[in-house]
Amino acid sequence: MKFEVCIPIIAPTLEKAIGELKEAEKSVDLIELRIDYINNIDEKKLKKILEKRAKKAIVTCRPKSLCGNFEGSEEERINLLKKAVEFNADFIDIEIESGKAAINELIENKHNAKVIVSYHNLKETPPLNELQKKYEEIKKLSRDLIKIVANANSINDNFIIFELLKNKSDLIAFCMGIRGQISRILAPKYGSRMTFASLKEGKESASGQISIEEMKNVYNIGLINKDTQPIGVIGSFAENSMSKNMHNSCFKQKNLNYVYMPLKVAENELKKFMENFRKFNFKGASVTIPHKLEVMDYIDEVDEIAKSVGAVNILSNNSGKIIGSNSDCYGAMEALKEKTSLKNKRVLVIGAGGGARAIIYGLKKENAAVTLTNRTLDKAKSLANEFNIKYGKIENMKELIKNSEIIINTTSVGMKPGPDESIIKEEDLAENKIVMDIVYKPIETKMIKMARKAKCVAITGDRMLAYQALEPFKMWTGQDADFELMENALLEQIRKGE
Ligand code: NAP
Repeated sequence: MKFEVCIPIIAPTLEKAIGELKEAEKSVDLIELRIDYINNIDEKKLKKILEKRAKKAIVTCRPKSLCGNFEGSEEERINLLKKAVEFNADFIDIEIESGKAAINELIENKHNAKVIVSYHNLKETPPLNELQKKYEEIKKLSRDLIKIVANANSINDNFIIFELLKNKSDLIAFCMGIRGQISRILAPKYGSRMTFASLKEGKESASGQISIEEMKNVYNIGLINKDTQPIGVIGSFAENSMSKNMHNSCFKQKNLNYVYMPLKVAENELKKFMENFRKFNFKGASVTIPHKLEVMDYIDEVDEIAKSVGAVNILSNNSGKIIGSNSDCYGAMEALKEKTSLKNKRVLVIGAGGGARAIIYGLKKENAAVTLTNRTLDKAKSLANEFNIKYGKIENMKELIKNSEIIINTTSVGMKPGPDESIIKEEDLAENKIVMDIVYKPIETKMIKMARKAKCVAITGDRMLAYQALEPFKMWTGQDADFELMENALLEQIRKGE
């Protein structure tokens, strides 16, 4: 059996379930009929829906106790699964909690159906040795397929599942939850026999399920195989990143076997994640908030530009040697130069984090006169001293803006999912000033809207983002990216997300 992407059908009535079944069959060759979702499911309804299918089907009937919807007795539930065999279902899913006797009876009488014996841990991903034991316990019963699904509380839980999948040909395994999404995407790489995708957003049968449209059109799931090189963006809100469409569309166009995914790494998880990154030989990564400085502790080399900037936003893995670079500087300067020259311009940089460092470094190289301000004054002072520029108190923003021709927000203020706020006030702006916000989610931040209203020249964060993606693409793949394609992919993602 080849690797399959399966769409679960979770409709409340038979008619709706048949409609969704037909829709799902346009995208995949395997459907999971979650009959526990169909109100008053009985033999007749089960027979009807199985007759209506044109592709292969798994029949699943989860009880309430395992977060399913089936409210009848255990006897009725097992009976429906037996009937599904009679009605020629291709696969039957039965939970390990159903007990040996019920599982054995189903397996003895399975005829042509394959039985998936499943284990779900909705709370956590247990350690590898526990999951291995669970696999062996199920293996004693199962003749066909084993399904092990566990909730990821950390991105590092996915790697437990990748270890578990090693050298097994009968296992379906992945993590649930937003932190588990990479295991759904990389399922074909690490040998899971199936992954599950929702019919559309809002139709998830489990948390973290990605829609089939995104699986196909963003992650190119049909092209992922054991040789695919994983890449992604490391950040505590990586799911907000706009880079996945840019890189994945370019990988596809150039026939490159890579996949770019959000890598949601919380603040205290980076060390462990970087160990996994090495162990599983991920090819590279973008790095975003809050890891651009700390990541330097876990890599082998920091290149000249990243050293000068003092922050790493790109990692590339060159045969086990992990090198940190910085492409923010190039991206920001290109975005600014679309609208203005920089030589001798008076520029106010707001913020003193990784983004600010890259921009200050670039502006200095372009011979601009830079002033810095930041919420934490000490940070502004030390960064200003490092780069030999002026700094001012954030409380004096009005004055600082008045004395500047270009104003750049490099703080995360205004970034989703945070509140719709601006670090500056509209009344402080004056016509023809150049206002750049490097926040790109949303594109039209409050600050950008204010700038447009005040008749300033506005530069949105997507410009910097698109330009800064060119360098890492080349580092990871050795090929030049198609800028126009990347830009269009980015704009399409923005259009959909806003
Ligand atoms: P960072 O290193 O974590 O720095 C965050 C900065 O924001 C610090 O100066 C911090 O001030 C300030 N800040 C955070 N919350 C604040 C608040 N409520 N009020 C005032 N200041 C606040 O982050 P980063 O990597 O520089 O990224 C910052 C933003 O730029 C993010 O939105 C990121 O997505 C965006 N970005 C965009 C691009 C692009 O290509 N367009 C590239 C890089 C970054 P304190 O020092 O006082 O904490």
